[in-house]
Amino acid sequence: MTTVVSRGAEARAEALGARAERARAWLADQLGAPFSFDLFVLDEDEWADHTEIPVYAIPHANTDSGKIVLGSQPATLFDSVRAQFWPDFGEGSRDAMHRVYGDPPMLEAFADLILVHELLHLVPRGESLPLMWHEELFANLGAVGYLASEEPDELPVYMTFCHAGCDVPPAHVACSTLVDMAASFEEGGFANYVWYQFRLVVAAERLWNTRGVAALQALQAGEVDVAAEVERDWP
Ligand SMILES: [Zn+2]
Repeated sequence: MTTVVSRGAEARAEALGARAERARAWLADQLGAPFSFDLFVLDEDEWADHTEIPVYAIPHANTDSGKIVLGSQPATLFDSVRAQFWPDFGEGSRDAMHRVYGDPPMLEAFADLILVHELLHLVPRGESLPLMWHEELFANLGAVGYLASEEPDELPVYMTFCHAGCDVPPAHVACSTLVDMAASFEEGGFANYVWYQFRLVVAAERLWNTRGVAALQALQAGEVDVAAEVERDWP
């Protein structure tokens, strides 16, 4: 693993790199699929030098190059999503947000866990998945599975914002059907894309709790039957 780190982000990058190694080892073991990657943790100035994604700090993986790119200051990005979603959060979700992330909520630790989701995009497959939301479900299922199994204390950090996001009704986003996920960024901006991800993370948690690693292995093999219940329960 090569790690490229902007000045000032060294300590965070070290922690992220250590988690990435743990997650890769777990995934390679569970899925019988060794793989490698390079980790980039970038400030705003260096972002444009290493990635095509125009919005700073959106975590992403490049499956061709094996790059995982994260912002060294992800807070701004997720703070704006939180601000947009907050009016729709119920009392219980607001309380949970404050309990887990503080008041005002600090979302760096949440954003750092998305690294595990991005690693899943680099896992070698038997067969590629037919639709974008299948691929994202696979990534979320792997992230939930890893955290539940190896870093259970971090699971609430990953899940709480996602659960709260499910309070935002479909009527409040531009795109809301599963097939429209691929168009959601363009149609409704980053927050609309995140709206899908949050619901998929919560669906993945349900799937993990009922079917465990077998569901992850099925998706890795290109079998989408396990996604049927996600589709059935979608708003
Ligand atoms: Zn993804």
